[in-house]
Amino acid sequence: MPPEERYEVHIVGFANDVARARVLEQLGLLGNLQREPECFVVASCRSRDEAEQEQQRWRRLGAHVRIVAPASPSPAEPLGKETPPRSLARATLRALAIGSLAGVAAWWLGERAMPRGVWKLPGKVDASRSLSHRASLDKTSNPPVWATTIPNDIHSDEAARLNNEGVAAAERKEWMAAAEHLRAALRLAPAATGIQRNLQQVLLGWGVDALRSGDVGTAVDRLEEARRLGPDAQVFLWLGYAFQQQGDLGKAQAAWEAGLEQFPEQPDLLLALGELWERRDQREKALDYFSRARAAGIDGPELQRKMERLGRELDAEWEYLLTRSARFDVRHPESEPSRTIEFVLANFEAAYDHLLQLLGVGPTPPISVVLYPKEQFHAVTQSPDWAGGVFSGRIQLPVGGLNEGNRLQLQRVARHELAHALVSEWSRRRAPAWLQEGMAMWCEDDHPGERSDWALSRRSADPSIRLADLPASFALLGPAEAEAAYASSYLAVLHLAEHYGPRKLLELLRASAQQDFSTAFRETFGQDLKDFAEAF
Ligand SMILES: [Zn+2]
Repeated sequence: MPPEERYEVHIVGFANDVARARVLEQLGLLGNLQREPECFVVASCRSRDEAEQEQQRWRRLGAHVRIVAPASPSPAEPLGKETPPRSLARATLRALAIGSLAGVAAWWLGERAMPRGVWKLPGKVDASRSLSHRASLDKTSNPPVWATTIPNDIHSDEAARLNNEGVAAAERKEWMAAAEHLRAALRLAPAATGIQRNLQQVLLGWGVDALRSGDVGTAVDRLEEARRLGPDAQVFLWLGYAFQQQGDLGKAQAAWEAGLEQFPEQPDLLLALGELWERRDQREKALDYFSRARAAGIDGPELQRKMERLGRELDAEWEYLLTRSARFDVRHPESEPSRTIEFVLANFEAAYDHLLQLLGVGPTPPISVVLYPKEQFHAVTQSPDWAGGVFSGRIQLPVGGLNEGNRLQLQRVARHELAHALVSEWSRRRAPAWLQEGMAMWCEDDHPGERSDWALSRRSADPSIRLADLPASFALLGPAEAEAAYASSYLAVLHLAEHYGPRKLLELLRASAQQDFSTAFRETFGQDLKDFAEAF
């Protein structure tokens, strides 16, 4: 008999000192601890349900809790684990649709009208680049394994021939031909699991390629068909991404959860769900999925940083209050005077109206805003001293000394960050840094273009900075270069808005959510991105 499987419940941290004391007291350890261990194992449960109840109980006391599942048996996979679509999936997992963007806007409290900033982590926006880069690794790193055994029956010779032709086409990535052969083979030998599996892997590869080239509809169709051929973790994963790309987070969630039911500790699915809950602003749930993903084997500095950030945010915001306005959910310390919160909310509502006037749309409410005491803001967001706001899926701001005296600065920051929220939503986080920052700056203006003189002089001060070769992250640039990068981005967006109108900018954002950016640009403006970028 196999050893009994148990789910362990670990306490890995505390929201704050009060919570720590509360929890240690419950454990009978308060005052009895020589040295605090890295984690406390507080329960060992027979089922996940039971473990989740334990988890809830400790969380209510302010503990950070994770569930460590028993090592799950690997699912039956007659054809071997490594298949070409699988390696592709691995390669692109982090690149596609899950990158969390963090824009940081400068908020000059002095006389400087020009916000500056750094752009964090946008390297993850461009799925296509890393895809094409990794795709070439397929053949060397993960040789495909295809089934060739066909059951002995009256049609077996013909089925085997069709199967082999399908496999040969699949190896050339001729997905349509491969699928046709394999479907025909399957009609002759419907019970042949090997053929089913081959067809499923072909449909998976086809779906992933379609998604990669922006053809989301085809991707969904192929991946749905693949799902009907039996449970496969990568099919669930990519189907979820395809739904997410379509903007249907509910369906994405359902696909990933269905996948987890079949493959309970599949790290990619856990990671995808963590990202999804983070986007929905359910940080505790997100952190839990990320912990499980790490326990299941995904690791690396990026996940580490993300978990640390979420941990810092949860700690800092543990006892924050929530205040709502028509379009905003604002979290803030209880100690913050209500007139400050009202002042911030009024400015954000006004900034939203400004976006409506300018573009006719704003980001979908409710928009999440978090206000931190100034010192805590920099500690939580790890932003530089001059940063006046951060957009990381929600808007984070310092509130030290906010009052009428700096209304103008707050107005600029509010417009800038709201524009980030809009660009992120409409482009599904796939717009390049220059478009994100350029639009954010353009939306700050009372009169569009009011800073073009400034921008022109900045740009000519550093002619080496060109839009065409701006790095994915402005944070890598020195201060003068960064200023020139922002200036170029602003001028580029200003040009597009003046020549084509703001509606076209929105069209570009929508298009870039669906396909690679240079295609989206050409389709929107009938102009080559390279040629356009040369001028800036
Ligand atoms: Zn920005």
